[in-house]
Amino acid sequence: MRVYITVDIEGIAGVVDFSQGDPTGGMDYALGQKLMTLEANAAVDGALAAGATEVVVNDGHGKARNIMPELLHRKARLIQGRVKPLGICAGLDDSFDLALAVGYHAPPSRADGILNHAYHPFMLKWAGVEWDEVGLVAAVAGHFGVSLALVTGDEATIERSEALLPPHVGVAVKKGLTRYAADSLHPEEARERVYAGAKEAVERRSEFEPLRFEAPVVVEETLYYSQQADMVMMIPGMERIDGRTVRYESPTALDAYKTFIATSVVAQHPNVAGR
Ligand SMILES: [Zn+2]
Repeated sequence: MRVYITVDIEGIAGVVDFSQGDPTGGMDYALGQKLMTLEANAAVDGALAAGATEVVVNDGHGKARNIMPELLHRKARLIQGRVKPLGICAGLDDSFDLALAVGYHAPPSRADGILNHAYHPFMLKWAGVEWDEVGLVAAVAGHFGVSLALVTGDEATIERSEALLPPHVGVAVKKGLTRYAADSLHPEEARERVYAGAKEAVERRSEFEPLRFEAPVVVEETLYYSQQADMVMMIPGMERIDGRTVRYESPTALDAYKTFIATSVVAQHPNVAGR
């Protein structure tokens, strides 16, 4: 049984600032890396305890060199490095039996979402619903016929996922107070809960369904600044809704996701992003 685990950093217990996920963050970053790696290990252990025979971990944050290879569970393979096809879903395909998302976070509209964002448009709408990174993972997994069986992160993320996605196991490891403050479990307690959640998710795998969308998948993005939308309009198929908002339709969830990644790269280019 093959289990895919995508790991982000903002929803890891003990992480409350972007410096903890930023390679220029010094000791903050070293701590974030360690917390992320050990919480990923808890999910790997849980999956193995429930019968997984192969586990692939994808480093799903920033330039994707956050997980510390030597500290990662030795039974897991690790996908890392920047310019990864499919980004937070790199390596995910129909060869997996199940997908797990560890350390995820809520979109910008959640005041109680610690380190809230969804890649970096101001607002992402997918099939008419405000969407987030967990939803993107669920959509890509669903395209491949794979169920997202576990979501871990802050309470806002777990609440959203329960409301928007097919049934799955949710594990909250902290509660956001503001975008930059949280009330967190001790990392060891968090790891125990992530372990138990991953084990339960894999054991109950036959109960879960992949997330599917009718074609076409309609995506709307509001960027922070109009010049970002100007440049995103260079991508064929984009429709301009207003100064900062673009819209596009894709035949599949996977195509919609790939186009979203392309818009995100264009909008975040140093010549385009910011004031
Ligand atoms: Zn991240």
